[in-house]
Amino acid sequence: MSERFPEKFTGSFTQQEPIPEEGIAAALAVLQHGRLHRYNVAAGEVAETALLEEEFADLVGARYCVAVASGGYAMCTALRALGVGHGDPVLSNAFTLAPVPGAIAAVGAVPVFVEVTDDLTIDLDDLERKANQARVLLLSHMRGHICDMDRLMTICDAAGVRVIEDCAHTMGARFRGVPSGRHGVAGCYSMQTYKHINSGEGGFLVTDDAVVAAKAVLLSGSYMLYGRHRAAPAPKVFEGLRLDVPNISGRMDNLRAAILRPQLRLLEERRLRWLALYQGLEAGLQDVPGLRLTTRPEEEHLVGSSFQFLLPGWEPARMAALVARCLARGVELKWFGAADPVAFTSRYSHWAYANPPVLPQTDRVLAGLIDMRVPLTFSLDDVALIARIIRAEVMSTAQAEQFEVAAASGGD
Ligand SMILES: *Cc1c(COP(=O)(O)O)cnc(C)c1O
Repeated sequence: MSERFPEKFTGSFTQQEPIPEEGIAAALAVLQHGRLHRYNVAAGEVAETALLEEEFADLVGARYCVAVASGGYAMCTALRALGVGHGDPVLSNAFTLAPVPGAIAAVGAVPVFVEVTDDLTIDLDDLERKANQARVLLLSHMRGHICDMDRLMTICDAAGVRVIEDCAHTMGARFRGVPSGRHGVAGCYSMQTYKHINSGEGGFLVTDDAVVAAKAVLLSGSYMLYGRHRAAPAPKVFEGLRLDVPNISGRMDNLRAAILRPQLRLLEERRLRWLALYQGLEAGLQDVPGLRLTTRPEEEHLVGSSFQFLLPGWEPARMAALVARCLARGVELKWFGAADPVAFTSRYSHWAYANPPVLPQTDRVLAGLIDMRVPLTFSLDDVALIARIIRAEVMSTAQAEQFEVAAASGGD
């Protein structure tokens, strides 16, 4: 392609696939009978929500599952169920998104941020140094990058730190064959539209711990109807807890559960399609001078629902210019080094309520970090075109002496 007529991408970075027909039919059935509340069941009926929990527990091999209103709510619930409260320190990733420190703040606790590595996982050496500062780690598998989970669990077990996993970006992923969310005491997932299954909003909490599960059911707002759950502990586990655990309503409803159940069955097929798109981007961005791709460990079975690359050492003006130039050609990139948060993209230093210290290693990594959504509506041709555009713009921006100031991307 000549410089005068550069290729443009015209697809949408925020367009997901439609809800499968089966989910639409199931949703209509719920609308027709009108019993949307999860505990509103006819004689002999099992609610869609209870079935969804049972099916997700099976899928990840967990004993218990509670479906809730959002991923953020699932994380708050897990923290509360582990007894985290006012003023307690909670270890967490410096590189994550706002719902994670938000969940810690929601229970009045205080994040202790851990640095990120050049491969975008939590820095296990820094975690080891800080492990004695908290009893709980809220581990975010941010943008699907899974660290060495065996070493992480060894560090946390040795220090008596309990692990809650934020699997908003790893639903369907595995590490050494173990489903993401099944290493720590609890795994939390999101079904918000941009995640791996879509009901607009929604979340899961999974655990093998009967007391954590019972507390999560009670916290989610079960009144005294916990007997209508299926992927939950026996009623006797609830008996000792039911008067001591507050109701903090955040239930899933039958309409969203109906939309989600058929999508669970598509998760592995989606993972394979996302992997092909991810590998297409990886192939298209090989050997671009100055551009670093992350190394993914062999033990990781990833869901490539987003793509990241690094431009180490690039100054802010050059990064901003690259984002603007790609946007002008239809390619929406997010930069984690911006001074202010833009739409969904924010960084630890923006979370002033948490009073974050300066983390030099994370600052260095995020200054050169570019992030891109990869919806399943993209084809292999789309990702090949996107990679050609990024390659061309990285090379020309690297050579440019000065940068045009173009409007930054604001929307999402
Ligand atoms: C989306 C997301 C969540 C959960 O978000 P909800 O919108 O509350 O479902 C948690 N962690 C990360 C990193 C996310 O991107």
